[in-house]
Amino acid sequence: MTLLEDILNYNVRFVEDKEYENYKTSKVPTMKAVMLTCMDTRLVELSTKALGFKNGDVKLVKNAGATISHPYGSTMRSLLVGIYALGAEEIIIMGHKDCGMGGIDVDTVLGTMKERGIKEETIAILEHSGIDLNHFLGGFSDVRENVRANIDIVYNHPLFDKSVPVHGLVIDPHTGEVELIQDGYAKVISK
Ligand SMILES: [Zn+2]
Repeated sequence: MTLLEDILNYNVRFVEDKEYENYKTSKVPTMKAVMLTCMDTRLVELSTKALGFKNGDVKLVKNAGATISHPYGSTMRSLLVGIYALGAEEIIIMGHKDCGMGGIDVDTVLGTMKERGIKEETIAILEHSGIDLNHFLGGFSDVRENVRANIDIVYNHPLFDKSVPVHGLVIDPHTGEVELIQDGYAKVISK
């Protein structure tokens, strides 16, 4: 059986057994926060459970490395919309130790793309069109610095309301222990 078949079969039972009743909540985050964290498999549940969040408590944005790769990309958009339209009043940016995007080797990624059929020519065209693939696919060497850099992107964004606290955390994916990188309340500019 394929993964997709497993998913669809499971889902029929899930709905029939009314398991959804355990997850009933509203679309407004109870804890009034939007959190950006990493898509790491170890954080699927740990990223919320270790902070005391349950279903319905936060808006959750996940991507590779908990990174805002472009100030007008979908991650920044999600954070802004979370604040202006979806009931969040605080932002949490949480990186994690032992992140797969820490020290990712772009040449290796490009090599794998070529092995899987992406033409050298395509890569050359993109680079000549001004797309910086090192930046696009690259990671970071220090997770704490990455969290701080992402906070700066939010904080310096022209559409960001500086009265919104932006907190920075780093979580240990083995123990769930959280390290405080930035207390967003300390940086708030009140109106
Ligand atoms: Zn990660």
